[in-house]
Amino acid sequence: MSVSDFSLTPLLPVFQFCPQCGEKSFKPNSEKSFGCTNCGHLYYINPGGAVAGLIADLDGRLLLVKRAGNPGKGLLDLPGGFVDLGERAEDALRREIKEELNLEIRKMVYLTTFPNRYFYKNVQYFTLDLAFICIPESIETIKAADDVAGFEFFQPDLIQLNEIAFESIRNMVKLYINRTKS
Ligand SMILES: [Zn+2]
Repeated sequence: MSVSDFSLTPLLPVFQFCPQCGEKSFKPNSEKSFGCTNCGHLYYINPGGAVAGLIADLDGRLLLVKRAGNPGKGLLDLPGGFVDLGERAEDALRREIKEELNLEIRKMVYLTTFPNRYFYKNVQYFTLDLAFICIPESIETIKAADDVAGFEFFQPDLIQLNEIAFESIRNMVKLYINRTKS
């Protein structure tokens, strides 16, 4: 994915009205901001924080979840989600993995980041996705919650990358697979 894939173009239909003066005079005025031609208001589009966890079982198989909703309904994903306002990335990942899979994380180690785009209800969101390798307290408690359609452990070299919902997650899984080879 190149930087040009992260243009503001998908936001044009929904970001037309200035949030300050209400006039239909809101336009991109740089590659990362909107400006109002009426009142001069400026609004920067920055990436939101999101987290993903790489969890393997004792045989080195990687845990992937199946997405219950759009975007990417039915496709594969890593457990994780958006970081809430004021929340640390590590706490967000612990919370999401507990919510989605009923797993407590004993240890997590930062791996990498990748940018992502997330299209939801007509709005394009831009995220910066942080990946952590996670060691659960025990894999025994695992149970899929309502917000995931299921989970499965995959032998790394048998993962079909085109069945993964997002570019950032594909890149993380690719990096993980390459590390397991070396
Ligand atoms: Zn304005």
